[in-house]
Amino acid sequence: MRDFSTNHHWLSINTATLRRQKGQEVALDLIIDQCAARGVRAISPWRDQVAAVGLDKIARQLKALNIELSGYCRGGFYPAADAAGLRAALDDNRRAIDEAKTLNAPCLVLVVGALPGALQGKPAYKDIARARGEVRDGIAASLEYARSVGMPLAIEPLHPMQAAERACINTLEQALDLCDELDPPRPATSDTGRPADLGIALDVYHCWWDPKLESQIARAGRARATRLLAYHVCDWLTPTRDLLNDRGMMGDGVVELRKLRGWVEAAGYAGYSEVEIFSTLDWWQRPGEETLATCIERHRSVV
Ligand code: ZN
Repeated sequence: MRDFSTNHHWLSINTATLRRQKGQEVALDLIIDQCAARGVRAISPWRDQVAAVGLDKIARQLKALNIELSGYCRGGFYPAADAAGLRAALDDNRRAIDEAKTLNAPCLVLVVGALPGALQGKPAYKDIARARGEVRDGIAASLEYARSVGMPLAIEPLHPMQAAERACINTLEQALDLCDELDPPRPATSDTGRPADLGIALDVYHCWWDPKLESQIARAGRARATRLLAYHVCDWLTPTRDLLNDRGMMGDGVVELRKLRGWVEAAGYAGYSEVEIFSTLDWWQRPGEETLATCIERHRSVV
């Protein structure tokens, strides 16, 4: 297992973590400058943050600062009430793949979607099996395009508390079953070690509780082309005060971060640990410098 205690070489900052500082929205170019000033080598930005500054401007800034991406957030949200909605989702995912390509991302992270309209409080239907079918078909269609341009897709299973609004893929096992169905392992031995076309983004916040976590991580590593495309860290607070935006700083909750990273690395993962903290009540109220300094310190001491 890699030693993180003496530097933050393998720390990536998901830029949602610094999206708000002292309660105020902060532009992505400023966040990137803050990360660069602290020697952070990688980030994972969100599409809305990129769009607000401009895709080409962000691409130039990253190149000038020699900062790479550990992922691009995010595509997905495939289910829709009708055929026009399903088509619109595919078009949007195609644009997300193109943006990820422009930013030289290693993968596009997919939050796959769930009951259409549920996020706005008006679900168009209640059939979660239908939503899962639409997710499957949507990923299959996106994968065809993503393969043609060389952009791996990373399904992020979300905690089941978000199954209605955000993602109807809720466990690593479910995500890997879909990977095996849509992107069957190929026999060529030359594939060993390279990223699969379709894999997973493993977020400890969503998956830490899963009794099959260790065995499914091992399964992801056993694929000839690795399915472990991204690794997101934060912590699960007790009590949790908000189902979306009360993620904890690493070390402040109940997730056994070292143990989980051990499993992931034993399965062959050698990429970044990406800190992703949504925290309306705590970290988003603090100065960005403090949040970033704490991320670096905890990355060394507990991740
Ligand atoms: Zn995540």
